[in-house]
Amino acid sequence: MDLEYKEEDLRFRAEVQAFFRENLPKELSDKVRARRHLKREDAVRWHKILAKKGWIAPGWPRQYGGTGWSAMQRHIWAEEYALAYAPPTLSFGLNLLAPVLLGFASEEQKQHYLPRIYDAEDWWCQGYSEPGAGSDLASLKTRAVRQGDHYIVDGQKTWTTLGQHADMIFCLVRTSAQGPRQQGISFLLIDMKTPGITVRPIITLDEAHEVNEVFFDNVKVPVANLIGEENKGWTYAKYLLGHERTGIAAIGNSKRELKVLKRRAAKARVDGKPLLQEPQFAARVADVEIELMALEMTALGLVADGARSKIGPEASLLKIEGTQISQEISQLQLESAGPTGLAFDPAYLDGRTEHAVNGDDDAAPLAAHYFNLRKITIFGGSNEVQRNVISKMILGL
Ligand SMILES: Cc1cc2nc3c(=O)[nH]c(=O)nc-3n(C[C@H](O)[C@H](O)[C@H](O)COP(=O)(O)OP(=O)(O)OC[C@H]3O[C@@H](n4cnc5c(N)ncnc54)[C@H](O)[C@@H]3O)c2cc1C
Repeated sequence: MDLEYKEEDLRFRAEVQAFFRENLPKELSDKVRARRHLKREDAVRWHKILAKKGWIAPGWPRQYGGTGWSAMQRHIWAEEYALAYAPPTLSFGLNLLAPVLLGFASEEQKQHYLPRIYDAEDWWCQGYSEPGAGSDLASLKTRAVRQGDHYIVDGQKTWTTLGQHADMIFCLVRTSAQGPRQQGISFLLIDMKTPGITVRPIITLDEAHEVNEVFFDNVKVPVANLIGEENKGWTYAKYLLGHERTGIAAIGNSKRELKVLKRRAAKARVDGKPLLQEPQFAARVADVEIELMALEMTALGLVADGARSKIGPEASLLKIEGTQISQEISQLQLESAGPTGLAFDPAYLDGRTEHAVNGDDDAAPLAAHYFNLRKITIFGGSNEVQRNVISKMILGL
């Protein structure tokens, strides 16, 4: 893409590149590059390095530790972040809960929780979905009954990503059964060490432990942990989802993965010629590249318009396009590996063996990566549901 970079943007890019060169531990970027599973301590270690530099929460207001970067600087940051193969940050606290706290929490709650998110004192997870409440989130049943200065919480959450590491969970709970379903929901912060909480792993196809079920049995939660007003949690929940959907677009990652794809396809041979020159394959690569450029322009346009501070249904558009592009690139990468891409090698992914069983370390994680990425059109609100949001809120159908 032909972006107009000013001299100060180029200086900023050089500063960011130097930071990654000097501060990103090689063993961490190697793990990300090889698509191996990261451990809790890997994520926390990198988070603390960024926090020390003051670059962990670019989107926050300056008074709470934000960087004050322009939209262009944030764009450059995201791109260099992906290109450096840096591990993901602890997104549930930084990018999902923090905006809700900034928008709706009391000053006391902000002063308590925001610095702890900033310094990785608390690992947060998200307690929205339930077995009968995914797309139809408003049908959630986990109950919080007020008793004096506490709520008593009972129920079950599911698909709780990395909940096994979490110190805290932000939960949607039912505080009233009266009136429309959306009006009886509250937004509650719960300490995962509270008696009565059980976390049970859900092991995925790639033998990874990424998601969990969380059970609440008579769990006592201080009323002081309620965010905003009782029964108004639906408003805060939707605000948070807007931030989640924008993040899932992962444009920087897709740009990096497109480069990886082209490198792979230039090396792979079909009838003695590079796969990248095979007309049908080349056309598919070109298609996805064009889609990605269009998505980037759209995202930049939205950010430049200041839409970021009041994210609306545009987030659904970014989510749909971004996730489809990520999936298509992963599919092309897998195809470019031919039969070597079929390997399923959990020991290599977990770092228990140094090399892949099939001898091709680059190709070995591609199948697991491909399958893992199937989730992105589902979580954060499935793409089908996002299309409904667009048809209603943007097209007015
Ligand atoms: C890997 C992974 C991690 C997740 N992490 C978390 C987490 O950390 N915290 C959390 O709270 N949740 C998490 N989720 C849950 C996620 O948000 C839900 O899976 C998602 O909202 C879809 O809900 P569901 O799975 O119940 O599917 P359902 O809602 O049952 O949908 C099933 C199918 O029907 C379609 N459908 C449903 N309603 C409509 C409609 N009105 N119009 C058209 N099509 C429709 C859907 O698109 C989907 O294809 C995670 C999910 C996954 C897969």
